[in-house]
Amino acid sequence: MTGTLYVVATPIGNLEDITYRAVRVLQEVDLIAVEDTRHSRKLLEHYGVKTGLVSYHEHNEQERAAQLLEKLQAGQSLALISDAGTPCIADPGYRLVSHCRQAGINVVAVPGASALVAALSIAGLPTDSFRFVGFLPAKSHGRRQFLEQLKDELQTVAFYEGPHRLQACLQDVADICGAGRKISVARELTKRHEELFSGTVAEAAEYYAAGKVKGELVLLLGPAEKKKPQGTVKEELARLHAETDLNWKQIVKQVARDFGLSGSEVYRQSLELRGKD
Ligand code: SAM
Repeated sequence: MTGTLYVVATPIGNLEDITYRAVRVLQEVDLIAVEDTRHSRKLLEHYGVKTGLVSYHEHNEQERAAQLLEKLQAGQSLALISDAGTPCIADPGYRLVSHCRQAGINVVAVPGASALVAALSIAGLPTDSFRFVGFLPAKSHGRRQFLEQLKDELQTVAFYEGPHRLQACLQDVADICGAGRKISVARELTKRHEELFSGTVAEAAEYYAAGKVKGELVLLLGPAEKKKPQGTVKEELARLHAETDLNWKQIVKQVARDFGLSGSEVYRQSLELRGKD
């Protein structure tokens, strides 16, 4: 019998944000893989968890994943936690989970807090679909290049950022994505100094300009405004036909969406364009 790997979420600040199941699993497993043994020992003591710890972080991930896999194959059950929130979300864990899956080891999620989801749930920006890009590049040149790829994104874009980089980051976002774009900055979620700023990028830059920003941050950039297509419906139909691999059905659907017209109206114009009745 092989063991099970439990991927367990821990709080992102408020220690009450852990599930009954997470505490039980952490007590019952043979070993807990943690990013930082000192940090996690303190956290686990708070819940009366005395299970042994083994370090698993970005610098030993590769070799440790192989060792942990051996333990699982020998029948031991393991839990994986990170310093805060959900493992594998901008945190180590993916390699171990991937090795386990390939080896046919049972991997079970014990879900809970994640800064990303907590921020999205309270910001009031569209969440029906969103794009999460982890941490932005630390240096301005790389960050600006990265933002170029995000500036026309039609979904909310979520990312993590360090407090000392916030002002420079907001300046780059204003330059590349526009000062009038909506943004939310979620700071110190679930903690004493929790704060959510929502406004335009220019307003956020002004708000955070004075003084040192402290604490942990999630930034949510509102969707870009959809660009209105240039020219007439027939010109756009002809352009998409010439420049893309889309078939006529797909072209009609896209043009109808972009121009805010009914599919039947755009279909009629496509027939005229193609010289068909
Ligand atoms: N796996 C974690 C999760 O699910 O939330 C995220 C890990 S990532 C290494 C840590 C980053 O998450 C921090 O630098 C910060 O950007 C964000 N973060 C973590 N806790 C937060 C909090 N309480 N409030 C706001 N952002 C937080």
